[in-house]
Amino acid sequence: MSATPAKTNLLGLTRTELDAFIAAMGEKPFRARQLMKWLYKRAESDFDQMTDLAKSFRERLKEVAEVRTPEIRMTQVSGDGTRKWLLSMANLRGDKSANPDEIDASQAIEMVFIPEPGRGTLCISSQLGCAMDCTFCSTAQQGFNRNLNIAEIVGQVWLANKELGYEPGGNRVITNIVFMGMGEPLANYRNVVPATEILMDDLGFDISRRRVTVSTSGLVPQMLKLAEETNCALAVSLHAPNDELRDELVPINRKHKIAELLDACWQYVNRQNARSITFEYVMLDGVNDKPEHAFELVRLLQGRPAKVNLIPFNPFPGTRYQRSKPEAIERFRDICNRHGVIATTRRTRGDDIDAACGQLVGRVRDRTTVRLGSKLISVTVQT
Ligand code: SAH
Repeated sequence: MSATPAKTNLLGLTRTELDAFIAAMGEKPFRARQLMKWLYKRAESDFDQMTDLAKSFRERLKEVAEVRTPEIRMTQVSGDGTRKWLLSMANLRGDKSANPDEIDASQAIEMVFIPEPGRGTLCISSQLGCAMDCTFCSTAQQGFNRNLNIAEIVGQVWLANKELGYEPGGNRVITNIVFMGMGEPLANYRNVVPATEILMDDLGFDISRRRVTVSTSGLVPQMLKLAEETNCALAVSLHAPNDELRDELVPINRKHKIAELLDACWQYVNRQNARSITFEYVMLDGVNDKPEHAFELVRLLQGRPAKVNLIPFNPFPGTRYQRSKPEAIERFRDICNRHGVIATTRRTRGDDIDAACGQLVGRVRDRTTVRLGSKLISVTVQT
């Protein structure tokens, strides 16, 4: 007796791969397009509902294929509309947890949706844990577990889209996707790049290339490769205006110094005909938030296609850092703007639900209860 072969998760296939998969089933190429429409335009995962596919084809599909997404273990909605899900990846690997009430933190990620006027941004993860070891990041504390595969990355968006759906006018609620959740996307290049392809494909999620942003701590060789091979937007976690400080905050800097990193950024812009690179800069009280740091940053970015996003630090248990004072953030931002470097402060959203990435998984790991803020309107624990 032979073991049943594993079914192919269709969410892990790019259009070319799906074409090949359908061809191997002996079906005509247009079937692949029909299938993609069901999957990505109508968020349908049940082959029986795909009524314009021949019954025999649907039966065959059920035998060899599936649409499998991460599992929602908890949903939180903040007073400001920010929504956060705790997702378990265990089911995608076929693991069965002994106790369905227990969340295995090593297989968990968080996904956050941030609604703003005119747009909705979904923040997704690329790895379980992270190996970059940035000193101010809570994910770093849990270390690196594994890369997410293509289906696990696309599955996050598929799931969020299923949950959030469409606006009355027919537009999708999710308009922007950022790889700013757990993990270093460029350290998982071989899965992240095909996943972005599916997100941007007009038969896939059809999100415009300026609205899919890969955020990196600065893996220079992969950035240069990305410039050649894809066309999504790029954000770079700079966090410090000189090598001495960046060596400490973002350890990859010991390998790729700021000059080399910025050089790769400008090459990216040229190659991609992109408007600019977004530089993320976490505001740490007394560490990188002084006027002299702002002036150093101005010297690095003045006259360049750059935008700076100042992120007030989100504290987590055990951290040695504190969030910069609002006046310090404002002063820093003004120095940048006065000298021609566009800087904006990221509003902190979903504070009441610990929407800063890494926070909730951290709490699950510590086996402490999830803190529920006063503005929280709904919490559903799904087992
Ligand atoms: N590894 C990628 C993407 C994940 S983090 C990267 O480094 O870009 C997304 C952004 O959140 C990064 O700019 C990261 O530095 C920042 N970040 C991490 N921990 C934070 C914290 N505790 N408070 C505020 N921002 C944080």
